[in-house]
Amino acid sequence: MIRAVAPLLVFAAIVAATLVLGEYRVVLLVYVGLNALVALGLVLLTGVGGLTSFGQAAFVGIAAYATAVITTGGAGALHSPWTGLAAALALAALAAAVLGAVTLRLSGHYLPLGTIAWGIAISILFGNLEVLGGHTGLSGVPPVRLLGFAFDTPRRSCLLVWAVLLLAVATTRNLLDSRQGRAIRALRGGRVMAEAMGVDTARARLAIFVLAALQAAASGWLYAHFERFVSPTPFRLGAGIEYLFMAVVGGIGQVWGALLGAGIVTFVLQWLRDVLPRVVGQAGDFELIAFGVVMVALLQRAPDGLWPWLGRLLERWHGTRPPARDAPPLERRPQPRRGEPLLAVERVTKRFGGLVAVDAVSLSVAAGEIVAVIGPNGAGKSTLFDLVSGVQEPDAGEIRFRGEAVQGRAPRHIAAMGLSRTFQHVRLLPGMTVLENAALGAHLRGRAGVLAASWRLDRADERRLRAEAARQVERVGLGDHLLDPAGALPLGKQRTLEIARALCADPSLLLLDEPAAGLRHQEKQTLAELLRALRAEGISILLVEHDAELVMSLADRVVVMDFGEKIAEGLPRDVRRDPAVVEAYLGSVA
Ligand code: ADP
Ligand code: MG
Repeated sequence: MIRAVAPLLVFAAIVAATLVLGEYRVVLLVYVGLNALVALGLVLLTGVGGLTSFGQAAFVGIAAYATAVITTGGAGALHSPWTGLAAALALAALAAAVLGAVTLRLSGHYLPLGTIAWGIAISILFGNLEVLGGHTGLSGVPPVRLLGFAFDTPRRSCLLVWAVLLLAVATTRNLLDSRQGRAIRALRGGRVMAEAMGVDTARARLAIFVLAALQAAASGWLYAHFERFVSPTPFRLGAGIEYLFMAVVGGIGQVWGALLGAGIVTFVLQWLRDVLPRVVGQAGDFELIAFGVVMVALLQRAPDGLWPWLGRLLERWHGTRPPARDAPPLERRPQPRRGEPLLAVERVTKRFGGLVAVDAVSLSVAAGEIVAVIGPNGAGKSTLFDLVSGVQEPDAGEIRFRGEAVQGRAPRHIAAMGLSRTFQHVRLLPGMTVLENAALGAHLRGRAGVLAASWRLDRADERRLRAEAARQVERVGLGDHLLDPAGALPLGKQRTLEIARALCADPSLLLLDEPAAGLRHQEKQTLAELLRALRAEGISILLVEHDAELVMSLADRVVVMDFGEKIAEGLPRDVRRDPAVVEAYLGSVA
């Protein structure tokens, strides 16, 4: 409830502020709003998605210049600011799409460096293009008019800027609280996990890059029509760095943190600009030095930014939404008939340099079977799982799932075919609730896109996904933890949550990599019962497990690997008497 009305409450406060504050303060408030809009994009891009950009000022500038050129007749004819808005958004989106296609491939530090290069290049361009007025810029930009009402004073502009900002806050929060939002948050959990859940990570990255650019562009458009003048100075790289500061100071990853951070940074910078020259006794860019010191001190005190700190006080108000129980169940995929061949691995080999991790291994899984893969550490079991699920490409051999070749397909396409997996090293999103982590597994069973989510047109879809996630979480026995953060669970239960997440995908074949590690005896029994129940339902399971008792009581067939090779295969009771197997295990103990 408080969630829905919070933007309205803030807007009411802004209306009140424009009535009581002096003009100077109102102008500052306009700047806070303009800056917060850009910082909000960075919250999505950097805080949530993990992609750092120093180049947001360039998008602000592109939009500001686009609307200035169009509304001052620079493009030949005079147009209204609304045409300017359309042009500004289109141009920024285009620039972001092109830049994103080039730089988002870069990993690690190359992306931030790419955005710096871009930020510098574009601001130089602004100063040197004749049609943009060179270093003097463009003046005579008209105010925005809506239904005959002109936003031509700071007080009026303040209302417009904050209305746009709060709309952006609401849509961003909607987006984060959706199927697409989970996909975006999954980017931080690593590409391998996100792709295994069916997320198109390249597309998700590009989407948030373009969205952040659009928010920066909206700010640039508002800026141009507020100042009624644009010049290259405000769009320099330094501004891009300040935007990033705002997002970090507020609490990177926190939607309201963008407002808090923009407020603090804008006021502190302004205050330093006013006070310092008087203290130092001469003019100069002293505020930047002082600003740097203040920021470093602040981040030392509160490395996660200020919003989480404030947020803990507010937590009791908003809480987390429980899932709807009455939502109609999701459609299930047609399951193969019992005994039908499901997975065929034929003479598959994988080398890492000189090491042959998997050496001409063959195995098969039929529908309704539990097959266990055992073997000493380093035998190549997890690598085999990576080959089957498409995380790694085999160097030789063939893998077919439901009769179709797996090689050359992205993990998300294999996931869509009905193969779902867990990871030996747990890959959850620790800050997200147990429910949301599980719901990520149902990604491919929802349809709603970014726009539908932003405007809350996805609610029916979303209710079904969350209800399914709740069912699977309860099924694996974690029902008491639905709304806890996943990171708060003990490691054994985190593994169990990975099973729930995999089940949310409605798989035909489950790949479980050491699911019982870290579980207590009683919990292992519960897990065994769950796996038997799944088999009874017709779900096939390929299982890596060290607990011999569990494997023997559960598996229909056992495949034994050692040094990358398959050394035995058969019924559990035969395999445990096999001399080669005894040798491999005794050898590894010695
Ligand atoms: P298991 O799961 O049976 O313990 P793994 O499949 O994890 O074994 O590893 C098999 C062998 O391959 C090990 O020697 C491991 O060090 C090596 N290995 C696994 N992944 C990689 C990789 N990405 N690069 C290089 N070597 C790897
Ligand atoms: Mg392993």
